[in-house]
Amino acid sequence: MIYLDAAATSAVRREVLEAMWPYLTGDFGNPSSQHEVGASAARALADARAAVAAWLGCRASEVVFTSGGTEADNLAIKGIALANPRGRHIVSTPIEHEAVLASIDHLVRVHGFEATLVPVGADGLLDPDAFAAALRPDTTLATVMLANNEVGTVQPVARLAALAHEHGIPFHTDAVQAAGWLPLDVRALGVDALSVSGHKLGAPKGIGALFVRGRLPLEPVIHGGGQERGRRSGTENVAGAVALATAARLASAAQEANAAAATAARDAFVEAVLQLAPGAQLTGHPSERLPATASFVFPGTNGEAVLLELERRGVVSSSGSACAAGSEDASHVLLGLGYPEDLARTAVRFSWSPDVSAADLAAVAPAVADAVRTVAALGR
Ligand code: PLP
Repeated sequence: MIYLDAAATSAVRREVLEAMWPYLTGDFGNPSSQHEVGASAARALADARAAVAAWLGCRASEVVFTSGGTEADNLAIKGIALANPRGRHIVSTPIEHEAVLASIDHLVRVHGFEATLVPVGADGLLDPDAFAAALRPDTTLATVMLANNEVGTVQPVARLAALAHEHGIPFHTDAVQAAGWLPLDVRALGVDALSVSGHKLGAPKGIGALFVRGRLPLEPVIHGGGQERGRRSGTENVAGAVALATAARLASAAQEANAAAATAARDAFVEAVLQLAPGAQLTGHPSERLPATASFVFPGTNGEAVLLELERRGVVSSSGSACAAGSEDASHVLLGLGYPEDLARTAVRFSWSPDVSAADLAAVAPAVADAVRTVAALGR
């Protein structure tokens, strides 16, 4: 079996498991406890925070550990928007992850916000001029993902953040899919908040982090004992934080080499699929895209049927976002790119982790073509 669904989740890396193990067993303390068992956990948490801060190029005090990408997005969007007295308007795009779109929807329904979702082009790119035109005097927050989880398009976030700042508007980016593949220096990106999730880069599910710049006001979403400097209550997931820090250290040390290798392998894979699979079209931007994601539509097929045929051939992939699990709807991302619903339902996404080689991918391309042909012939 070859696993090409890393955008959904990845296996925990051995080094990560070894690093977190002591904090689940002997060193199990609560960082808030006054005794030495607690102090030891507090030191591990502080070290993990410093490592995540080094990865993101920020101060340790600007890192808030969360339960994952969804919570980081919720905290950024609700937390910044509700704390900002400027107004009640949010700017984003229609192709954000559900964690972002549903948080915005909550602000609209419950708190009377208005949202402008600026349309993206057919390649998924947001035009900075269209983005700038949507900013208003009462805009409290702009949020645009760094890389899309379905089609892989990478947005010009540094430019968009600079435009938002010209109007004094804070800017958040969801970097969950970019993590491990693109540099995440928050100063270079110029963002005020950035979300990451551990399970996309070899840490377990259930740990993530939000960078929040300096003294940017933030209304907590989870209330309680005041942990994480009052920004996220709840006993800290010490082992998870150590895992995220370890995965981040490993991923950032190898980021350039991994991205270069995956990009070359991806380009060869895309070319082979386009050549071999009848009617295949690549979705997303041809070059401004994640190194290890390639998504296609296969006209005349059904994406779910192609997935099943691929699985029979030992290839595990996805029809889009696993995060909208169980959803039979056509992908909101492809609809946002302007694909008609019937074509959007033929989508298949391949995404992989750095341990998948160019040779592995080269072997998959003929299986893709075979699966597509089988489904098209059956008229499914
Ligand atoms: N944002 C993006 C772009 C994602 O791809 C995902 C998960 O797939 C999330 C947020 C949610 O992260 P988590 O699964 O850690 O809640």
